[in-house]
Amino acid sequence: MNIAKVIVDVPASSINQTFDYSIPERFQEILKPGMRVIVPFGPRKIMGFVVDRVSESSFERLKNIIDVLDLTPVLTKELLDLGKWVANETLSLSIVALQAMLPQVLKSKYKKELVRMTDEKLPDPLEYLFAGRDFIAYEEFENANLSYYQLQKAVQAGDLSVHYQVQSKVTKKEVLMVKPARETHMMEEAFIDFPKNAKKQKQVLGYFIENTHPIPQKEVLKQFQTTNQTVKSLVDKGLLETYKEEVYRNPYNDEEIERTTALELTEEQQQAIKPILASIKNNTHDVFLLHGVTGSGKTEIYLQSIQDVIDKGEEAIVLVPEIALTPQMVNRFKGRFGKSVAVMHSALSAGEKYDEWRRIHRKEVQVVVGARSAIFAPFENLGIIIIDEEHETTYKQEDQPRYHARDVAIQRGQNHNCPVVLGSATPTLESYARAMKGVYSLATLNKRTNDQPMPHVDIIDMRAELHAGNRTMFSRKLKESIEHCIRNKEQVVLLLNRRGYSTFVMCRDCGHVNDCPHCDIALTYHKNTNRLKCHYCSYEEIVPSICPECNSDLIRYFGTGTQRVEEAITELIPEASLLRMDVDTTRRKGSHEKILKEFGEGKADILLGTQMIAKGLDFENVTLVGVLTADSMLNLPDFRSSEKTFQLLTQVSGRAGRHELTGQVLVQTYTPEHYSVKLASEYNFLEFYKKEMGMRKKFQYPPYYFLALITITHENKVKVIQTAQRIVHLLLQKVNQNTVVLGPTPSPIPRIKDRYRYQCMIKYRNEPDLRVYLNKILDQFSDDVRKNNLIISVDLQPYHLM
Ligand code: ADP
Ligand code: ZN
Ligand code: ZN
Repeated sequence: MNIAKVIVDVPASSINQTFDYSIPERFQEILKPGMRVIVPFGPRKIMGFVVDRVSESSFERLKNIIDVLDLTPVLTKELLDLGKWVANETLSLSIVALQAMLPQVLKSKYKKELVRMTDEKLPDPLEYLFAGRDFIAYEEFENANLSYYQLQKAVQAGDLSVHYQVQSKVTKKEVLMVKPARETHMMEEAFIDFPKNAKKQKQVLGYFIENTHPIPQKEVLKQFQTTNQTVKSLVDKGLLETYKEEVYRNPYNDEEIERTTALELTEEQQQAIKPILASIKNNTHDVFLLHGVTGSGKTEIYLQSIQDVIDKGEEAIVLVPEIALTPQMVNRFKGRFGKSVAVMHSALSAGEKYDEWRRIHRKEVQVVVGARSAIFAPFENLGIIIIDEEHETTYKQEDQPRYHARDVAIQRGQNHNCPVVLGSATPTLESYARAMKGVYSLATLNKRTNDQPMPHVDIIDMRAELHAGNRTMFSRKLKESIEHCIRNKEQVVLLLNRRGYSTFVMCRDCGHVNDCPHCDIALTYHKNTNRLKCHYCSYEEIVPSICPECNSDLIRYFGTGTQRVEEAITELIPEASLLRMDVDTTRRKGSHEKILKEFGEGKADILLGTQMIAKGLDFENVTLVGVLTADSMLNLPDFRSSEKTFQLLTQVSGRAGRHELTGQVLVQTYTPEHYSVKLASEYNFLEFYKKEMGMRKKFQYPPYYFLALITITHENKVKVIQTAQRIVHLLLQKVNQNTVVLGPTPSPIPRIKDRYRYQCMIKYRNEPDLRVYLNKILDQFSDDVRKNNLIISVDLQPYHLM
């Protein structure tokens, strides 16, 4: 068995296969499938995953494995197979699928160290190598020509540990840290004024504009390949600060969390949990759709199901949307399961994420709560997978591999014979339709656990306001209700739909809008820097004082950004204090939590935000929820826009009156008769489902039809169009008669970063070989892709039709 089958890190579609390498003597005892290795490939040395060991190869004269990167496999057999499945499902490279399962630290080139974990004497050559030191560079071991087997043994016994240098905490108590010394906007100003040739300083400064969190100086130097002097210059200029800190990485302070015990379930909850517990007990794979209004006790069902899984000696994965990974949510799991919980959150640093991953890998925890990629947690005895808010589109990854966490969950549920629970107050049509067909088991919770009614929703017709001469963005009723709340010392949540969050600059005379010169999209106005920025590339410019088209000086700010709403409120209700939560105020790590904490402590009357405030928040004192424009999403070119509107309105309504105080919801809209606004205000999911299913059927959309979106981009427009036409032509020869191939058409944003974008869409009911055709087509263009910078991306479950 001295031959390894390796999936190599080569970005070309024809290389979705394994390559054989022979295993040199010194690695023979340690090498296992699931380990990463360095192998020669052509003239280069590249990374690869060992997927198997065999004794024979059909090739002669195999090359040797150069190096082994792991002493224990980082991927289990199940995950290796899952990687193959994901690659196949999403038409991506196996290597990309495998890497998506690992934390960042294992993907890039961090330096490794061997750290001594014991005071006892190590086996001879190792003890000699350490020569009294607590840690050594991994390279020292590699250069010393010692036995890898012995090293692996020592690591398995816990006498030595392999550390990536991001986590220098183990070896050093104090670390020199660097952090910004000024407000972000001041740093931005300094950045702009910096001389061009101070490249390193600018790079470092740029980093701290993006990341306001302190990091060790050592990391700064390594990341930017620079010296102390760079940091010192920035410190001297008053832009950065350095200080010494004892490093620890636990992002949540576990001691403070109050422990909870299982609540006695309501009748409804008991009915819902029974089949889930049965499935856990009998090791059967079933998918449950738990449809329950906000506050109906879904989370308690998750907690008690997980308890059964832990009691059985098995493990649980809980996915929650990124935005909902608030301390409030995490604490509910830590409160019940304490130190058995790992948290995977994109706001964690690379080192923190790796720490959490390692706790899973070493079987130190039984539960992981995390965003999308936590679905790949390397557990080996999964007993349940839970996806909360299953309708959230963040469960779909928008880069390669374009997987949907729900599909991966179901695949893993099958692998482990365990249940998958999908929970939501507003399930996707896809999931609900499957439940109706009996593919999933449906459990419904109709009541809130505290028997509070859902808050009353009033729809306010903004057209009538306009007729009555009210030109502000607040209806009279909303204004009065806010004032009423503030007088009663109650709090208000105001939601601005996502589309409204940008502000554009438009000439009042000729209507000229400043577009990005590299993308076909309007530039967004940023008040604090008085600049126009592109949200797709990093282009920015100063706001013009006269119109570049007609020289008029009547420049007008158009659109309702949260900043403008804030100004309008201050003008309208001067006594109101307000906290704003949007991409601008939450750019810094931890600021999201900080805003919520302050609001929870009553430090402001109003929380104003984009849809990120609609999720999972639970404040006792909130009695009024206002939605400024319910329909701003309805006009998007997206067949899911009605569904998304319904979901958002339902979600945000659930924020009011969760406790003793009764809540009120006011929804302002220009289309009060639209069914998704109307039915959301009545909390009538079933009627919405029926109505929307009718639309989907009529217009041939999911769940009646499957979709595939092919996007072609290149700098040359003619090339894009020609390629797109050829692809459509090739497809039409293959697909069956009732399959629809639309396009090619320009993408909704026809150009981004100077690349033209065309797309075609396939709508089909039954194309068992579609992946085969698509792969063949991709293969045909692979030369063009490799040599001419053409990009063809295929999304077999498109969510953003942009
Ligand atoms: P959901 O996840 O459906 O929004 P939660 O699980 O958050 O609902 O429950 C809402 C509130 O009701 C929480 O404060 C929770 O502690 C409480 N709760 C849940 N189940 C019960 C129960 N069986 N008895 C009493 N309170 C409960
Ligand atoms: Zn003009
Ligand atoms: Zn741009």
